[in-house]
Amino acid sequence: MEADKTISDTLVDVQARIAAACAKAGRKPDEVEIIGVTKTHGPDVVREAWEAGIRLFGENKVQEAAWKIPESISGPSWHLIGHLQRNKVRPALELFSVIHSVDSVPLLERLERIADECGHRPEILLEVNVSGESSKEGLKPEQVPEAIEYALQCRSLTLTGLMTMAPFCPDPELARPVFAHLRTYRDRWEQEFAIGLPNLSMGMSNDYEVAVEEGATWVRLGTVLFGHRPAWRPQREDTDRWEP
Ligand SMILES: *Cc1c(COP(=O)(O)O)cnc(C)c1O
Repeated sequence: MEADKTISDTLVDVQARIAAACAKAGRKPDEVEIIGVTKTHGPDVVREAWEAGIRLFGENKVQEAAWKIPESISGPSWHLIGHLQRNKVRPALELFSVIHSVDSVPLLERLERIADECGHRPEILLEVNVSGESSKEGLKPEQVPEAIEYALQCRSLTLTGLMTMAPFCPDPELARPVFAHLRTYRDRWEQEFAIGLPNLSMGMSNDYEVAVEEGATWVRLGTVLFGHRPAWRPQREDTDRWEP
């Protein structure tokens, strides 16, 4: 985002790029929704983005979301996109309606138990480590079928798709195979389990156009919409520190 541009101006440009990527891939632009990733930004940015037309918002840390969401306008649908520690499941379920980062069967078990206890009905995605990078969170592809099987017998969780993070590289073309693989796995698991997994959460600021060409339905955009993230200043005693 350039300094003199509003979020609304930037969004018009991003939406045009998404539409162009859809056209290239023979998809309809309304198959793709933007998740505005507001981590490190405050409730003022949430409001401006909402007024510009963004409806879905993503945060990667439960503790940061725990002060920000209550202070933000109501209306947004909040998505947890970062790793969920098992001891933060309860607050995460209070704050988020969609959890993209489900990466183990024990986490599924805990989500199901607490969601059931508290009457939450979250939508979940399984995070898949397609690229096989050891530093990345996520299930290995061969671990996913067991997790799908488990998720399908949960009463309180609705599995609607898959999420992945491509390794960061300056050339977005290098991320293309990761996105294409996630889509291929999705198609395979839909067949294998006779289920629908409509949501593919993939693509960030540097590679969302490629992700859309490869089938993304949710792109998670921070920097391209809101500019570079400010160095983290704790806003409350209990917030997580920002690790750049
Ligand atoms: C921060 C973050 C994003 C957005 O990153 P940008 O490069 O700023 O668009 C997307 N997904 C996850 C999981 C993130 O943590």
